[in-house]
Amino acid sequence: MKLNTRDYDYLIVGAGPYGSIFAHEAAKHGKRSLIIEKRPHVGGNMYTHKEHGINVHDFGAHIFHTDNKEVWDYVNQFTEFNGYINQVVANYEGELYNLPFNMNTFYQMWGVKTPAEAAAKIEEQRQAAGITGTPKNLEEQAISLIGTDIYEKLIKGYTEKQWGRSATELPSFIIRRLPVRYTFDNNYFNHRYQGVPVDGYTVIFDNMLDSDLIDVQTDVDFFDNKDTYLEEFPRIVYTGMIDRFFEYKHGELEYRSVRFESETFDTDNKQGNAVINYTERDVPFTRVMEWRHFDQKGDDNVTVITSEFPQDWDRTKEAYYPVNDHKNSEIFKKYRKEADNLDNVIMGGRLGNYQYYDMDQVFNAALKEVQKEFGK
Ligand code: UDP
Repeated sequence: MKLNTRDYDYLIVGAGPYGSIFAHEAAKHGKRSLIIEKRPHVGGNMYTHKEHGINVHDFGAHIFHTDNKEVWDYVNQFTEFNGYINQVVANYEGELYNLPFNMNTFYQMWGVKTPAEAAAKIEEQRQAAGITGTPKNLEEQAISLIGTDIYEKLIKGYTEKQWGRSATELPSFIIRRLPVRYTFDNNYFNHRYQGVPVDGYTVIFDNMLDSDLIDVQTDVDFFDNKDTYLEEFPRIVYTGMIDRFFEYKHGELEYRSVRFESETFDTDNKQGNAVINYTERDVPFTRVMEWRHFDQKGDDNVTVITSEFPQDWDRTKEAYYPVNDHKNSEIFKKYRKEADNLDNVIMGGRLGNYQYYDMDQVFNAALKEVQKEFGK
C-alpha cells in the first residue's frame, strides 16, 4: 500500500509545535505536507480543551513567555493572547511562600526587609555549606544562589520527586530556569512577552494547519511503517524520540513522565491561584493548577483543578522531560551525530533534539530550520 498518496514533499512526524510550524511554512512556499500524529489530536503537549467553558491544558500548565519579538509576533498571528503573568505560590508543610525566589520569599523565610539583608543571609548560608567555585550539580547551584533554608524547604523535595533522583545527580541549569531577584516581584518569568491564548492553545494548531497543502492523520504511528515512509517521502521532519528513530542502537535515553488527576468543584475559586506548588517530598504531586485563574474564563460556580504527579518513564508512557545529565547527554551526542548525517531527515522539538525546551525555544528552532529549508 502506498503511503505517499498525494505527491507530498514532506512527511512530518508529530503534530506538535515544531512539526506544525514546519508544515505551515512549507505550505506558504507551495510545498505539500502529510503530518502523522500517533495521538488522537494535534498540538502535542500544548493541546487544550474546554470544560464548563474553562480552558484546560491536558498536559500541564503552558504559559507562553519569551523575549524574542519575532517568535511572539509569529504565535500571535494564530490567536490572541491575554497578558497572564504567572505568580506561583509554594506550600511547604502548610507554610506559604511566593515564588520565584524574590524579596517576598526572603521576607517570608527570614523576616529580612532589604535586599542587603537578604543577600547577607544567603551569603552566610552559602559559606556555611562550604560552596565555593562553580556549582557541580543542582544542589550546589541552588544553595549558592539562595541559601540552605530555601533549598531545603522549596527546592530539594520538589526537585527530587519531580526528577526521581537526588538533586546532587542533576545538572545545575535546571534550577537556573527560575529567576532569583532582589525585588518584591513574583513574576515567575523574566520575559517581556507573556500570556496564554484567550481561546486555549488548540486553536493555534487548527489555524496553522488549515491549508489545502497540509493533511493531518491522527492515531497513526510512524514506526508501524517506518521503512515505507523513508522510501516514499523525499523529506521527513521527525519530532519523536531520537533514540527510538535509531532503534536504540546507542542505548536508551532516559525521560521523566507525569500523570494528571483532575477534579471539578462547585465553586469558582477553590485554591485562589492558578498554580500552587507542593514542595515537600511526602506530598506525591508537585503542583496543582486551577485553570480558570489563567484566563478568568468559565461557567459560573464551577472550577476544574488538576494535580500533577511525576512518574518514572517507560515505553508505555508519554515522555515529557529529557533527563539531561552527563550519562544521557553522552548518549544523545551519538544520536545527534547520526541525525546530522542523514540527508533527508530533519529532527527537531523537545524529543527529536532531547532538549528541555520551552515553547518559545521550539518555535524559534522551527523558524530557524524553516529559514534554512526555504530561505527568507
Ligand atoms: N523547582 C523547585 N521548586 C519549585 C519549582 C521548581 O525546586 O517550587 C525546580 C525543580 O527542580 C524544577 C525546576 O526548578 O524541575 C524547574 O522548574 P519549572 O517550573 O521551570 O519546571 P517546568 O514547569 O518546566 O516543569
